[in-house]
Amino acid sequence: MLSVAEAAVLIQQRPLLLPAEQVVLADAVGRILREPVYADRDFPPFDRVAMDGVAIQFSQFAAGQRLFSIQGTHRAGQPQPTLINAHACLEVMTGAMLPIGTDAVIRYEDLHIANGQATITIDEVQPRQNIHHQASDRRAGDILLTPGTLLGPIEIAVAGSAGRTSLQVSALPRVALISTGDELVGVADTPLPYQIRQSNAVMLQASLRELGIRATLHHIPDDEGALATELAELLITNDVLLLSGGVSAGKADFVPAVLMQLGVQQVFHKIEQRPGKPLWFGQQADKTVFGLPGNPVSTFLCYVRYVRPFLQTSFGLTAPPPEYAQLARPISFNPALTYFLPVRLDSQPDGSSLAHPLPGNGSGDFANLLAAHGFMELPAEKNEFSAGDVYPVWRL
Ligand code: AMP
Ligand code: MG
Repeated sequence: MLSVAEAAVLIQQRPLLLPAEQVVLADAVGRILREPVYADRDFPPFDRVAMDGVAIQFSQFAAGQRLFSIQGTHRAGQPQPTLINAHACLEVMTGAMLPIGTDAVIRYEDLHIANGQATITIDEVQPRQNIHHQASDRRAGDILLTPGTLLGPIEIAVAGSAGRTSLQVSALPRVALISTGDELVGVADTPLPYQIRQSNAVMLQASLRELGIRATLHHIPDDEGALATELAELLITNDVLLLSGGVSAGKADFVPAVLMQLGVQQVFHKIEQRPGKPLWFGQQADKTVFGLPGNPVSTFLCYVRYVRPFLQTSFGLTAPPPEYAQLARPISFNPALTYFLPVRLDSQPDGSSLAHPLPGNGSGDFANLLAAHGFMELPAEKNEFSAGDVYPVWRL
């Protein structure tokens, strides 16, 4: 059986090849950039007044002048003025172009203004103070955003500032979510005593929405014929199938056999881990299939540890690494498996993070995850884990 690390590598080596598409700026948030974005002008584009106050020629202050007559007022959004008399000053507002002939801005807080004159009331003035200098942040032609960048509000602001109204981003894959199991009914249905609602489907649907993907929902009973017919169709119209259930050793677990019948090549089946040991992963040309175990905690762990990084890599993003935290109390786990322990994270004033174990009632107990922030990955080689030991945590 594969280790967690081996399985993760096999998946990461097989990303989807997603084309790029052009989207308008407002729709680019949460997407992955596929082109470089360059500065079309300097950042800032001119010497920008950074404080409301007056602009002076610093050499006058250095020579001992403190009282300056006010030549006029210059606001943001006006063309650059000139200070005509070097002994005078101009009132200037934040965001305005620094007037020609001036090289320091004194804030109102450091001035006394009366009768059209400004008196400097502080002893220290630096040359070029309170000026946000042209090109001090970025230069025209500089690369502002590189391909593979996740576009958040700041990236959108930077692209918009460079005049970009649309961006090339990774296209979203077509994903089908398929619940298998005779015991399952829809969320809107009233279950009979022996039935349960398909919570995995909505959990995965919600998870994918966080990546911008709108997946379709399907349910197939535990019947080899029905599975073969419906999966064959879904393989044509989708890039990724995420199945839940039917991959373990039970009498109704037909998913691996049916996928192989359909020509989906198994890359691996089963990982030395708990929960989620029966995970199945395979590909057929440019289609990828994950057979996630049906127990909801297993399903979610497999999504968080394998499926989400797979999708992020496919988008061209470096899959975010895990966080690290210290176990808050000792834990024993005897099987020779990697144990993904649900934990609640508590960040400490010293900057460290404490992980409080929430073992719950096994892989069916998904309500236990309501209190958890992530799964701590406890290595298969050990059975005893001490308080204070540091291990990776995969955020839910
Ligand atoms: P399986 O992997 O098919 O053996 O299912 C393991 C357990 O997970 C069973 O108790 C199933 O009822 C449950 N299960 C399977 N699919 C779902 C689903 N979509 N939502 C909630 N529970 C599920
Ligand atoms: Mg089942």
